[in-house]
Amino acid sequence: MPEHSCKNNALHPTGQPSNGRLFIISAPSGAGKTTLCNAILNKFPDLRYSISYTTRTPRNGEQNGVDYYFISKDEFQNNIKQNTWAEWAEVHGNFYGTSAQFIDRQLSQGNDILLDIDVNGARQILSRYPSSITIFIMPPTFETLRERLIKRGTDNAEVMAKRLKNAEAEIAQKCLYQHIVVNDTLPEAIEALSAIISGNRSG
Ligand code: 5GP
Repeated sequence: MPEHSCKNNALHPTGQPSNGRLFIISAPSGAGKTTLCNAILNKFPDLRYSISYTTRTPRNGEQNGVDYYFISKDEFQNNIKQNTWAEWAEVHGNFYGTSAQFIDRQLSQGNDILLDIDVNGARQILSRYPSSITIFIMPPTFETLRERLIKRGTDNAEVMAKRLKNAEAEIAQKCLYQHIVVNDTLPEAIEALSAIISGNRSG
């Protein structure tokens, strides 16, 4: 496990400068996070989803403004200079960022938000919004993760190798999170995640 893994563990709810609450969900690629997030958004229709910005190429079926906002590297870098991002990170060679304006507006309107971001992003959000609720989704085993990635078939061998390596590093940092949900069977994982969310809503 990397030495840096759990330095932020002390960041727990201390009060947020607004009424809304942030729910941060992280997971290694292939842990089933997108499916779980969609199920949660169906179950809690008033939960706002923070659509991330990315420089990654859209996958088949992904839509701009729904799954992500797909932007160029230049635009992303300009936004770094202009402090547009509440957090940003480079993941698997692409940039990903969360709009600070979206987050602050939604929180100030009392809306709870779901964020699907990586561990680096989670650290940044926690230091900016300390009362965020953090949830890490685990695959039942590392082998399951590998099988799910192969089955998904969206990545070439090089990207897949990067994702698996990154998965190990992310899992090593799971102690940053307040809640761990193991995605073994989908209905059980949805149930566990729903319980965490409904137990921590702002309203
Ligand atoms: P994917 O390319 O598979 O959609 O996402 C790769 C990784 O990037 C996932 O771990 C996902 O949670 C993370 N990610 C997506 N959006 C953001 C974001 O806005 N910020 C950060 N830090 N990570 C993100």
